[in-house]
Parts: sequence; structure tokens; C-alpha cells
Amino acid sequence: MKIMRWAVALILSLALATAAQTNGGAVAQSVTVIRAGVLIDGKASSARRDQVIIIRGNRIESVSGAAGAKIPDGAKVIDLSRSTVLPGLIDSHTHIFLQGEDPEQGGYDVNILKYPLAYRAARAAVAARRALEQGFTTLRDVETEGAGYGDVGIKMAINEGYIPGPRLFVATRAISTTGGYMLEGYAPELTMPKGAQIVDGPVEARKAAREQLEHGADWIKVYMTHRSWVGKNGELVSQPTLTVEELKAIVDETHGWGKKVACHAYGGIGLRRALDGGCDSIEHGLDLDEAAIAQMLKQGTWYCPTLSAYYHDWGPADTPEGQRDRKRVSVHEVSFPKALHAGVKIVFGTDMGGIPWTEPIAQEFSRMISLGMAPMDAIQSATSRAAQMLDMEGQIGEIAAGALADIVAVQGDPLTDIKILENVQFVMKDGKVVKQ
Ligand SMILES: [Zn+2]
Repeated sequence: MKIMRWAVALILSLALATAAQTNGGAVAQSVTVIRAGVLIDGKASSARRDQVIIIRGNRIESVSGAAGAKIPDGAKVIDLSRSTVLPGLIDSHTHIFLQGEDPEQGGYDVNILKYPLAYRAARAAVAARRALEQGFTTLRDVETEGAGYGDVGIKMAINEGYIPGPRLFVATRAISTTGGYMLEGYAPELTMPKGAQIVDGPVEARKAAREQLEHGADWIKVYMTHRSWVGKNGELVSQPTLTVEELKAIVDETHGWGKKVACHAYGGIGLRRALDGGCDSIEHGLDLDEAAIAQMLKQGTWYCPTLSAYYHDWGPADTPEGQRDRKRVSVHEVSFPKALHAGVKIVFGTDMGGIPWTEPIAQEFSRMISLGMAPMDAIQSATSRAAQMLDMEGQIGEIAAGALADIVAVQGDPLTDIKILENVQFVMKDGKVVKQ
């Protein structure tokens, strides 16, 4: 009988403890205070000195000058008074399921032909951790390259705290057409697996979008061009893939779900179709003519140029591939400044995964600046502007009251030396310090 009473008491106290834990609102949230020597808040056009950021739980409660700031009792203070503090960075074009494949080791195809999915997922988890450690607290990851819905799984594992990683916006499988994606170059008698979902016709296109949205796609990724080569007159030619009709079915479906469509497009017919079909963001956009820029401005289309990726792995100069690789860079270096000066909304994106994850993600900043972008503009392309594209304005990409506490810090002034952003020394995501 005595034992019974003890048991009842124990169960009751456990139940009460659980109630107290789940009733999180009533329990006081932890308060953290960051003293920022210099603050680049992601939105304002200039930096501010000596700021105090008060964080309650996972959100920023206030940002104010150090002079008048009142530090709450019992708050944990993080002293970054000798550092420059910025919002967590956002890379709007990555592939955590790619590893900068080395042709010597089987290139792109080996991933799909030989590697178990669990191996690919393990490597994707490492890529996600690397991104976070470099201060990228959010990624828009634009397709898994044959790893199906693996990105949805990695996102779950991050959100549930099993593995460290950024906030992920995932695109799942991506969509292209017959003749419009790898694996290719095998005997025609073989049915090869593809790195994207292949559709032909608006019915299949809409169905693919529905499937991907059903299984957790935050964005739909579409390939509007595929192969590219140097044409007769020395111009860059890109093979178009989906028709306007096919794309319109995808865009209509995706917008109905309140989501957006990212379109891989280099130039020419495929780029025109991408814009006529209502794409929300143009990925790469190597060869933007005046008409495309005017249409992007009119439609409010985002531009994610991924400059860095095109300076990697050039073929020899005397081969068709080598000439194409050089041509891609030379047209891109014209398109980017033209779009920039016309006022197209540019977001920071690297195509990491195409680039090995061992390289600094922030290298893209230097590329953008070398082509005429102001340092603060480049930082905003990876903070508040990317947040706007992701429909997360006010939540991420800025250090302001009400935003989620995604905060990074560097030594020195990135506005005078942008390479400083390649060496992020402090990272907080969702109010938790992940690197110090
Ligand atoms: Zn890509």
C-alpha cells in the first residue's frame, strides 16, 4: 500500500513537471544580450556603432544604442564589442546533395549510379553543417540531383535538432524535359535514371509540381535551358527545355499552393520562355539581353546570378567545352552589371555543391563586388533581400526587434574588405550559439 502511494506521488510529480515544460509560455525564456561593436543590421544603408541586442528565447526583443540600454537581470551577456555583427547569411542557391564532383572520381554520374542514398544523405548533412559554421543560417537548396526527397529529410533532422544545419528551403527533385537533364550519353537502349523529374506536356508538368509540393517542396525548381555551346557567330547558345505552356502549368499550380518557382535559365529562347511563363526567380541568367532585363523589372523577377560557379573547372581553351566555359563567364560579366544598374532585384547565390563544400561560400561576395556591386548592397543580397524573396521579411536577414535570432560576427570591417566574411567567428541560429 505504501509503495502504491509512492508510485501515485511519483506519477503526479512527473505529470506536473511535464505540464510545466510543455507550458513553455508561462516559464521564463532565457535572455541573452549581445554587445555589438559595429552592427550591420541587414537593412539600413550604414553600420551603427556600440549597439546592444536583447534576445529572448529565439527572437530579438530589442536593438538599441549601448548608452541607454538596460540589461535585464540574469541575462547572459555575449561580448562582441570588438567585432562586426550581422544577420545570419542566406545563400539562395545551393545543392547539399552535390559535392563539387571531380570528373576523375566519376563526376556527376557516380552519385546516382553507385552511391547509396544514405551515403549521399550523410554527405549532405556535412554540407549543411559546414554552411552553418560559415555563418549561413539559411539556404534555399534548389534540388537534390537524383536524391529524391532527401532534402525534406535533412530539413526535418535539422528542425528536430538531430543534426546542426541552417534553415532550409527545399526544392526536392526539380523538373526538366526529355533531353533536358543528366544522366545522358549512354546507349539509347538503356533507360537511365535522371537527376531531375522529367515531364513532357502541361499535364505531366502540373502533376510533377503537385507531387513535389505534396511531398514537402518549399520551392519548385525548373530547368528552362540545358546544354550550352558557342554558336556560329561566337554567341552563347542554350538549348531550351520546357515550353511556355508547360511552365505556365507549373507556375499556376505552385502559386496556388502559395509557393514560388525558381528557373534555371542562361539566355535566348529558354530565358524568354521562363519570363513569359511567369518564373519568380531566374537562376544563373548568364546572358540577359535588354528585353529580358526590362521584363524582369516589370514582373518583379528575382535574379540569382551564382557568379562563382562559372570560374571553376574550365575545360582546355582549345576544346568546344573550354570555349563554352570562357564564353559563359564573358557574357555573365556583361549581364550582371547591366541588371545591377537597371535595378533588378539581385540575391546572393553560389551553386555550392557545384563548388566543393570545402571552399568558402562567401567567395561570391568578392565576385559581386568586382563586377560593380557596393559591399552593403552585396550584404543585403544575402540578408534582407533574400528574406524578402523567401517571404520571410522581418523574420530572417535582419537584426531588428521581432526577427528570429540568427546572428553572426566577424573581426574587422567587411565594408572595406569583403573577404572578412569568409571568416565568420561567431554564429547564433534561432537564439542558440552554434559557434563562438
Ligand atoms: Zn544549381
